[in-house]
Amino acid sequence: MNAWNMNEAISQPPSINPDIKKRFTAAKRKTYSSADYISGILAGNRIILSQAITLLESSQPRHYDLAQQVVEGCLPYSSHSIRIGISGIPGVGKSTFIETFGKFITGKGKKLAVLAIDPSSTRTHGSILGDKTRMENLSNDPYAFIRPSPAAGTLGGVARNTREAIILCEAAGFDTIIVETVGVGQSETEVASIVDLFILLVIGGAGDELQGIKRGIMENADLIVINKADGNNLHVAEESASEYRNAIRLFPPQESGWLPKVITCSAVERRGIAEIWQYLTECISLAKESGVFEDKRKKQAVKRMHTTIINNLKYSFYANDEVIKILADVEDQLREGTITSYKAAIHLLNKYFKKY
Ligand code: GDP
Repeated sequence: MNAWNMNEAISQPPSINPDIKKRFTAAKRKTYSSADYISGILAGNRIILSQAITLLESSQPRHYDLAQQVVEGCLPYSSHSIRIGISGIPGVGKSTFIETFGKFITGKGKKLAVLAIDPSSTRTHGSILGDKTRMENLSNDPYAFIRPSPAAGTLGGVARNTREAIILCEAAGFDTIIVETVGVGQSETEVASIVDLFILLVIGGAGDELQGIKRGIMENADLIVINKADGNNLHVAEESASEYRNAIRLFPPQESGWLPKVITCSAVERRGIAEIWQYLTECISLAKESGVFEDKRKKQAVKRMHTTIINNLKYSFYANDEVIKILADVEDQLREGTITSYKAAIHLLNKYFKKY
């Protein structure tokens, strides 16, 4: 008998702890049920939260039902938060501002989720966080969760995905949500319709047009923050602030009854941050007292239902085989002037509705 066969009769322990193996394969498989997702999110598991958001963003219809079940399961645990939208052109200082403002918020013991919408990206790991240094301090903050989202390539667009991501974050225990939109497109208006308060970030000295600010977006803002009010730029920023204050007086008042406020700030020097937070919290308590807060959320829900109907109908229409078959032809006829737009539309709609 040698040393090799001495222990033959003794059963050997498995080389890998079976529990770890089980957990590992489960993680690798990633075939969570909706109940797994929901319990993971409610337990504050960030990995599962991230995976559930990825599911929401999936353009694969087979993920849609599962994602919806998860959202529905999380819905009763959501809504106890403040939702803040932040928008401004690239370079205005959004990420610097959100980092400084975010650290201020988590410093108050709040749990902050930042959902960043990147219109230029069609992938989950789009360009918005391509630069790893973006919001580095905040990413390492245990009280913060940062999530970039692609704006394109999804079923339902920015508002639906982000709105549902907000629900999941709230169910995971985040009490302050920031939704960041980049650029100048339609996304600002959509985002304003899913948040409680909307901040427009601008820089002093540059005209509104240069900054791509449409009047409607400004009218939607609860707060206009003039960033980079520091160093040589301080004077220009203060001047711009009074110009904005004058311009705002001519705006129609919002449903809440208040006009947007203008505050100058320096995200780099952390100036104006406490004032911004104080203003926002005052707005929220006033809105809650007067019922405007709840009312706005209810109106948003009704509006969202209508948008969802329209989006789904549109999706279903353009995915319809009969429509696809004749659409290019009908477009040609329109270009040739042999049919009117109205007739063309009715013809296509008839094709669609006959099928269903
Ligand atoms: P974003 O594209 O809107 O996210 O802008 P960034 O946060 O990336 O900022 C663009 C540039 O502006 C960077 O070089 C920042 O350092 C700078 N910046 C941001 N905030 C301030 C500020 O308050 N003061 C100054 N002087 N520069 C700032």
